[in-house]
Amino acid sequence: MTLAACYGPNKFGLSFELFPPKTEQGETSLFEHLKELMKFEPHYVTCTYGAGGSTREKTLDIVTRVRREFGCPVASHLTCVGATKEDLRQYLALAHERGVQNIVALRGDPPVGETSFKPVAGGLQYANQLVELIRAEFPQFGVAVAGYPETHQEAPSAEIDLDNLKRKVDAGADIVITQLFYDNADFFRFRDRYDAAGIRAPLVPGLLPITNFSQIKRITSLCAAKLPPQLVSDLEAQGDDLAGQFQVGVSSAVAQLRSLLSSGIPGVHFYVLNRSDATSQILQAVPLPKL
Ligand code: FAD
Repeated sequence: MTLAACYGPNKFGLSFELFPPKTEQGETSLFEHLKELMKFEPHYVTCTYGAGGSTREKTLDIVTRVRREFGCPVASHLTCVGATKEDLRQYLALAHERGVQNIVALRGDPPVGETSFKPVAGGLQYANQLVELIRAEFPQFGVAVAGYPETHQEAPSAEIDLDNLKRKVDAGADIVITQLFYDNADFFRFRDRYDAAGIRAPLVPGLLPITNFSQIKRITSLCAAKLPPQLVSDLEAQGDDLAGQFQVGVSSAVAQLRSLLSSGIPGVHFYVLNRSDATSQILQAVPLPKL
């Protein structure tokens, strides 16, 4: 199943995002957690692509195994970091050969310590060029791209960032998955501007349930996402109580998802961080529209 078919008037798309585990133990644990998550019958599962292509093989291994073991459609993330066009073509050909149906097409971040992205010679500068390459040479893939409710860190303005997002959709992306966010007002404003710009691809909110305060401070600082002050003080009030932090995170995500659902969203994408606990509790508490 390709991405476009997961969303529509009578379809609510549910997807989970994994990352490639570094160890065998991590992979065993991931597949145990994924077995739990499969009970919610996701439309597809995605796996991230590490900085500089460092997880190239592992990303493909994980999505191939997910597809084989659970019969679930998959998407491989792919970035332009450190890759020539030929490298990208080779990856796409291999992914197709292994039965991957969808690609999350990304530019990727500049290497640590660098502030701007520099493509390698013969490489691509922006994600819209990767979408163009896929559409021209691998039209069989469904394609998702990234959108930023709080504006991408490097963009000179929200307007320019939205123009650049439109460029990716115009190049042929089927859906847009958002960066994680915790204040729905940011998503609603972004969606209003997205609609006003005439972008018609399904806009799917990406949710990362908080399970640990120090971890989420690190993640949000890396991707420049805000934590609302009330959520910060609720988490701070838990002190070192990790179970308490987890419960605050789950309650907050439950409220966030309920409000998003009542505003009308085409689907939801969970950044599950290779665990099932928080996402399972959220999905048990919040029934999704009929899938
Ligand atoms: P682009 O869409 O290329 O945008 C990058 C910047 O350039 C933006 O500021 C944009 O406004 C600007 N821009 C875009 N096009 C143009 C243009 N034609 N002309 C001028 N300016 C332009 N990172 C990973 O390393 N691996 C992953 O697996 C991964 N998965 C992700 C999944 C999701 C759903 C999201 C939201 C992010 C993910 N990221 C991942 C992070 C992503 O790589 C970074 O946010 C990166 O900095 C930008 O990637 P992009 O595809 O949005 O880039």
